[in-house]
Formats: sequence, structure tokens, C-alpha cells
Amino acid sequence: MLDQKDNCHGIGSGNSEDHDTLTQVSTLSALLNGVYDGEVTLRELLSHGDFGIGTFDHLDGEMIILDGQVYQVKHDGTVIQPDLSLTTPFAVVTSFDIDEHHQLVSGTTFDRFERDEDTLLPTRNIFHAIRITGTFAKMVCRSIPRQSKPYPPLADVAKQESVFPFVDVEGTVVGFRCPQYVAGINLPGYHLHFISADKTAGGHVLDFTVGKAEVAVDYMPEFSMMLPQTDAFYASEMQHDKDADLGAIERDIPHDALVVMHRYL
Ligand SMILES: [Zn+2]
Repeated sequence: MLDQKDNCHGIGSGNSEDHDTLTQVSTLSALLNGVYDGEVTLRELLSHGDFGIGTFDHLDGEMIILDGQVYQVKHDGTVIQPDLSLTTPFAVVTSFDIDEHHQLVSGTTFDRFERDEDTLLPTRNIFHAIRITGTFAKMVCRSIPRQSKPYPPLADVAKQESVFPFVDVEGTVVGFRCPQYVAGINLPGYHLHFISADKTAGGHVLDFTVGKAEVAVDYMPEFSMMLPQTDAFYASEMQHDKDADLGAIERDIPHDALVVMHRYL
């Protein structure tokens, strides 16, 4: 399960610590602005890690990468393993290895997990890969439909989501915790996806309640970005509302853009 499949080349190459590197395709701001054309193939993505999340060309559903296998949760809830020639406009991957793990208390909700885990991590200022394996009394996921050009902004796509509630489901939560300072580049806080043990269900995690599960955490002090070399990315206005960010940090309340990211990515 924890085999290193680290045969990195291209971005991040030549680094003996690649297994502790988070590699990201594009930026969250670009995705919010509707830059949905895939740029990096899944084959290339897998050369940077065996564990990750993201979306697909044309924003076609939710991506889960677990044990080097890519799963695509479509808008109708079906799960397929896409051809590795398919591309992604946004994804985050790493080669997962465990730095720390512990059992979760039965009944732990997503909210409580976030609060508890934040107190257990040695710092909130590096990246963390999060893997939760076990059974879930409740798991609520969602997926988003494939988009056509001209692409609408993510906030509009979000209204077309499908929500899938599951009860007593076994599977794995795959995701990351990013530091607050990544706002605009990635999602501050926890961003989790789910794939069922039988690989027939999953999506972007909106909520869960733990039945019996263990969390494993990989501490990642290195961060690498692959930016699209496309007209759409080059022309995208990725201005950041610093005042809103500041307000969000001071009040600990996410501003609108962060709400969109949290719920709809
Ligand atoms: Zn997501």
C-alpha cells in the first residue's frame, strides 16, 4: 500500500526528497475563473505521486488517486478509471508515506475532525496529505458536470452539483490540508475526496461521520507547481482580494470565494 512509485521527471526532478513534495497543477484562482481545459495528462501526473485529488478536462467530475490508481467520479455518481491520456486542469498529488497515524473516535464528524487534527499536527504551516481508511456511518459526497465552452465560472457550475449521501460505507478519504497562506493558489484548510472500498462510489467530501476509521498523515515540507502554458491561463485575471482575505483571517470566517472553493471544488 505504501510502495514508493517515485519515478519523478520533469518538474520536481532531481530531488531526493520528492516523496515529501506536494505537486500541484495550475492554481485554484484559475479554476475559479473557468480555466477548465486540461493541460497535464494523468500519466504525467502519476509520475509525481500515487495519492491525490483534482478534477478533469472540462471539469468532468471529481478525481481521486489512491495507490497509484486514478478514479473519476462522474456527475451521475458512477466511477470509472479513465485512460491515462486524459488531462487535468487542476490536481494535487504526492507519493504518500505515513509520518503519523491514529485511530479516530467513532462518531467523529468532518467539523470535529478538522478541529481535532489541527491541534494534533506539529504545525499548520507546511502541507499535509490526509488519508482516512475505514467505515463511515455517514458520508456525503458531490460531483460536478462536464462543462462546455464558453466556460462559466466555478461559482455557476457549483449550482449544477449532484450530492450523494451514503450510509455505513467502507472506503478511503484522500486529501490534503494546506496552510492559510496558500489562498489563491490552493484551498486553505482541509480538502478531502472519498472513494468507496469497492470503487463504485465517491466524490468531493461535504460531510462525514466516522464509524471505525484510522487517519494517516504525511508531512510535506516541499511544494511544486506546474502552471498551464495556455492562452486561457495566461489571460486569466487572478487578482486577489486582500482585504477580504484579511477579514477572513481576522474573523476566522471564509469570504465568498473561499466558500465556493470549500464547497464546490
Ligand atoms: Zn474537491
